[in-house]
Amino acid sequence: MMYQDIIEQLKPTDTQLVAVSKTKPIEQIQELYDQGQRIFGESKAQELVDKYEALPKDIQWHMIGHLQRNKVKYIAPFIDLIHSVDSPRLLKEINKQAANIDRVIDVLLQFHIADEDSKYGFTFDQAKELLYSEAFAQMKNVRIVGVMGMATFTEDEAQVRREFQQLKQIFDELKGMHFADAPSFREISMGMSGDYPLAIEEGSTMVRIGTLLFGARNYA
Ligand SMILES: *Cc1c(COP(=O)(O)O)cnc(C)c1O
Repeated sequence: MMYQDIIEQLKPTDTQLVAVSKTKPIEQIQELYDQGQRIFGESKAQELVDKYEALPKDIQWHMIGHLQRNKVKYIAPFIDLIHSVDSPRLLKEINKQAANIDRVIDVLLQFHIADEDSKYGFTFDQAKELLYSEAFAQMKNVRIVGVMGMATFTEDEAQVRREFQQLKQIFDELKGMHFADAPSFREISMGMSGDYPLAIEEGSTMVRIGTLLFGARNYA
């Protein structure tokens, strides 16, 4: 599918497109940039740094993959949004590195909504515990702007829809409980190449699309 078609599909709901460029070369990213795309998502810190250095500086880089704590310092100076905060320890490290360079870094809390073991993320109770903790109250250099989740990789649309609804519900509950006075808490990052139309129907504000834009990835 063409870039412009996807852009048209996202317009009615004002959903943002994160173009997932992991494993793809600079030239392909530049091509999409030349068509107007400014938000790109990567899943490895080193690859992010290399691409940040090689490409135009008005790109907003999003980290969407599992992030190791010892890699946070490399992306802290330029990262626009980290979707994949999956533990209190990671959030604490992001806060520390952001404080070192006098930034406030926007993040999403990743929730485990899929029926698969391999996916990282908080449960609702873990997130609640974090938000009410003294440690979190001290974190002045991170701003939680929403939630992220990945649905199960399955043909079962009803299941995928249920999982997206679950993430939307988590968002609504956190909003009411902790972020009622924070208009910046507004993002629901859900939907990928295979399921983004469903995600939009269920309230996604940000879809992360790779394969449809760049073609299939080759993993060596
Ligand atoms: C790779 C990846 C995507 C994009 O997946 P596609 O199926 O290629 O669109 C989205 N979200 C995350 C977290 C990813 O790792």
